Amino acid sequence: TEELIRKSEKLTVLGELAAGVAHEIRNPLTSLKGFTKLLHDADGDIKGEYLRIMESELNRINEIVGELMLVAKPQAVSFEYTNLKEIINSVVLLLETQAIIKNIQIIVKMEDDLPHVYGVENQIKQLFINLLKNAIESMEQEGIITLELERKNNLVQMTIQDQGCGIPKDRLKTLGEPFYTTKDKGTGLGLMVCFKIMEEHSGKIEFSSEEGRGTKVEVLLPTSPPPKPFKTHR
Ligand code: ADP
Ligand code: MG
Repeated sequence: TEELIRKSEKLTVLGELAAGVAHEIRNPLTSLKGFTKLLHDADGDIKGEYLRIMESELNRINEIVGELMLVAKPQAVSFEYTNLKEIINSVVLLLETQAIIKNIQIIVKMEDDLPHVYGVENQIKQLFINLLKNAIESMEQEGIITLELERKNNLVQMTIQDQGCGIPKDRLKTLGEPFYTTKDKGTGLGLMVCFKIMEEHSGKIEFSSEEGRGTKVEVLLPTSPPPKPFKTHR
């Protein structure tokens, strides 16, 4: 019975997720359908305008699907000892232009002899991208984001502190629920993916925040394989 309960819980979550995805994708699809019709008798400038809107709707669908790939597809994942320093550096490089435009400085502090973590490189990269992107997006302009990495016994702790808008208290508990977003162009899937990745890594992720002042995200990743074998889901 326990097994059954667990399975049905999984199905409920899956059903909710599927309903959410269907809903989120139907909106841009409906709009695309409408504009396709309009396009028939449109000409000149207005045609270009329609095409621009259609492109942005397509981008939105693409983004949603892209974020979901990671949770939806049983990928061939390989756990290995992974160098966080390299991952962090490449992620910072990737998002730096976005930060510079807003006058945001990203400060990275890490020990020289930081141990490797036991994980899937691409997933950890995805995790950092999603978190750092949120940090940058939370800040209007100017300020500092600090990324700190340190060893904590058999774990590596990474802390991301931003000086952004913060998260309301009653929202902190529900972070990770799909499709919660406060952004015009948000997908509300980034954190769900982060939680999923942390679960697969037997890691931990914690948010603390003060509205109007900023948010701190603490991530704990193990430096060695977990003692018991991984659950197999499929
Ligand atoms: P998205 O970024 O597409 O909105 P996420 O799942 O990444 O989706 O984040 C969900 C929501 O959580 C965001 O819209 C925002 O309201 C809140 N949030 C996440 N990270 C931060 C942060 N560092 N500062 C303020 N709000 C945040
Ligand atoms: Mg995000």
